[in-house]
Amino acid sequence: MEGALREAVELGRSILGQGAVATYIPELAKADPSALAAAYCGMDGKTISAGDEGTKITVQSISKVASLGLALNICGEETVFSKVGVEPSADPFNSIMRLEMRAPHRPQNPLINSGAILVLSLLPFSDSTERLEAVLDTMRRMSGNEGLRVNEAVAASEKDTSDRNRSLGYFLRSVEAMDGDVENILDSYFRQCAIECSVEDLAAMGATLACGGVNPLTGEQVFPERTALILRALMMTCGLYDGSGDFAVRVGFPAKSGVGGGIMGSVPARAGVAVVGPALDKRGNSIGGVRTLEMLSESLSLRVL
Ligand code: GLU
Repeated sequence: MEGALREAVELGRSILGQGAVATYIPELAKADPSALAAAYCGMDGKTISAGDEGTKITVQSISKVASLGLALNICGEETVFSKVGVEPSADPFNSIMRLEMRAPHRPQNPLINSGAILVLSLLPFSDSTERLEAVLDTMRRMSGNEGLRVNEAVAASEKDTSDRNRSLGYFLRSVEAMDGDVENILDSYFRQCAIECSVEDLAAMGATLACGGVNPLTGEQVFPERTALILRALMMTCGLYDGSGDFAVRVGFPAKSGVGGGIMGSVPARAGVAVVGPALDKRGNSIGGVRTLEMLSESLSLRVL
């Protein structure tokens, strides 16, 4: 296993030069484009990693899986999916176009920015810190790492450069698709995106989803089996932005990426498989990470399709 991980990371490294770190959030531009690591967490909770496994990234969009799981736990499937769709979007993650052009004006799915902001608005918290704490707690339970924290410098940088996310929030409210205090909801959104983690945390989170919602490290049932299934299904169809179809063809298991360079993969009843590599391709997915997962899928026969 260690050999397979090492080999896949080395292959991923060979194309890092073709990618670039995200710069639209200035703090993310400080990430090391040459870093790349992979980890595998089996159903026994044993985690093996390779490459630059000390690298820390912020979860960014990967947090949308945790907040959706939390909303499904608290509000139920019917309520959540009456407000947000479950269809893939061929548009970039922060696009506003489809929201405006199609009635009803509801986000296409919960893993694009508009959908994730709306999902947060459904949680029964009026205080942005309480809302954030509930998402952070969910991610701690998914990863089994009590030490997960918000990187406040990244959160502040997100807030400073948030025109697009503000537009999405206010547009949703203007068409009465979302209720609540937009600034307050966005504050928890920026901070949940800025939760910092390692590749091993991501692999454990993916393993929790693979294991029907039970964290294999702690034995805790974080989500009911049905929620874990919904999360994996949405990751499969919508998890890599407008690159989800390409990822399904090349890698073939559910995963969620973030612009911090992380990808959390989940192979049902088998493993959590994750990568971190801040150099991104044009769609915002870790360029070396996707290549690494493609090779691991092949060498470990992880494809579910
Ligand atoms: N905080 C980022 C944003 O809203 C998350 C994007 C992502 O990882 O896709 O722009």
